[in-house]
Amino acid sequence: MSTIVVIGGGLAGGTVVTSLREGGFEGDIVLFAAEPHAPYERPPLSKDYLMGKKPIEKAYVHDEGWYAAHDVDLRTDTEVVAIDRDAKVVRTTDGAEQPYDQLVIATGAVPRHLALADGSGAHTAYLRTIEDSDRIREFFGEGRRIVVIGAGWIGLEVAAAAREAGSEVTVFESAELPLLRVLGPTVAQVFADLHCDHGVDLRLGATVTAEDLRGADLVVVGVGVAPKATLAEQAGLDVDNGILVDARLRTSDPSIFAIGDVANHDHPVLGRRIRVEHWDTAIEQAKVAAANLLGGDQDYERQPYFSLISTTWGWSTGATARPTTTSRSRVTWPGASSGPSGCVMGSLWRRCRPTTGTPATRSKRPSASRADRSTRPGFHGSRVEILARAPLPSANSAAAGPTVGAGRTALRVRSVQT
Ligand SMILES: Cc1cc2nc3c(=O)[nH]c(=O)nc-3n(C[C@H](O)[C@H](O)[C@H](O)COP(=O)(O)OP(=O)(O)OC[C@H]3O[C@@H](n4cnc5c(N)ncnc54)[C@H](O)[C@@H]3O)c2cc1C
Repeated sequence: MSTIVVIGGGLAGGTVVTSLREGGFEGDIVLFAAEPHAPYERPPLSKDYLMGKKPIEKAYVHDEGWYAAHDVDLRTDTEVVAIDRDAKVVRTTDGAEQPYDQLVIATGAVPRHLALADGSGAHTAYLRTIEDSDRIREFFGEGRRIVVIGAGWIGLEVAAAAREAGSEVTVFESAELPLLRVLGPTVAQVFADLHCDHGVDLRLGATVTAEDLRGADLVVVGVGVAPKATLAEQAGLDVDNGILVDARLRTSDPSIFAIGDVANHDHPVLGRRIRVEHWDTAIEQAKVAAANLLGGDQDYERQPYFSLISTTWGWSTGATARPTTTSRSRVTWPGASSGPSGCVMGSLWRRCRPTTGTPATRSKRPSASRADRSTRPGFHGSRVEILARAPLPSANSAAAGPTVGAGRTALRVRSVQT
């Protein structure tokens, strides 16, 4: 009977062990999780959970009993510190050794640190774990001053949650608009307006200084993450911005797979490498890796897309990029993905409340032209009103997801409840 060992008890790790059992694997499965928790999803940590609206139980991949019931040896609070590929064993912090026949590395990513904030003397936080989210929430409240560095998704969501809790919030972003590289100017402007309209002091094109952090009750840094690939590198696997995997998610050692945020995948459709830090990728790569661990020969072909359902201020956004050759588009309005490359990006606007507060810095870009509006079926059976179209930025990043071909289109859309 063979043994499959999984390093990393995040969403990818939790999903791969699930898929292995669902796929009929009857051998031993050992799942090492450095955190003191069973695998859980991170998106709520900057959204409903951070706002105190949903319990953490909703975020777990499975309830506590599932692992024992499915004969998965889940070892929480246990970090793997070495992989010995010759002996085919992994070593944990307490010196114990666990043999494997096949290994999956799903060690995820860790927040990039900012020396300016760390050395500022202010309380500083990064958001990756349940404990991080709990700690950040403790600082929220009327009259509290929260400074956020970085207007990416996590920075903006923390800003929104802090604002909802009555805190004064200042966000520093070096780009001219939040999420500019990801969304392009038209849709990024929507997010700038949204946060300004809700009283967030959004400082764009800004270089944050130590002086800016003085007097803050909490400084939250959201400047991106780095793949946690040191273990793989020390084991002699090929690593370059994550662990290099082939189309089937195999590393340079055929008995070792890597999936999720840590994997830099040779994408067979895009024809280049891509490392994607998305919830969906963690799940879908885990499924394909499980099939291949069980003797399959599947390429991971899924196109990267971005989908975020941020309930903050009643907004939801979704974005995708797929060639028309694939039929698995998640964005459902007809015509949206037509054209030679068929890439589309959208934002969905719902129930935006009236404005509150007067931000010190507000972007002044005019609203989209109404001439381009039309109504189409949208996400989850709702209807969306398309407010604007604009080309996406040509520069791609792993976080952006959309990458395919030319002729990209961005849609700024507002839902019309049916
Ligand atoms: C606050 C937040 C909000 C997000 N919101 C969204 C969203 O709205 N939409 C979206 O698509 N994506 C979102 N993401 C990104 C998404 O959560 C990640 O892409 C996803 O978690 C990746 O899963 P993973 O399993 O690859 O890595 P991770 O979730 O990072 O899990 C890796 C796990 O491995 C453990 N580990 C690491 N090294 C070892 C070791 N040596 N031994 C044992 N265990 C180890 C880590 O402790 C960690 O628990 C968000 C992320 C965060 C932090």
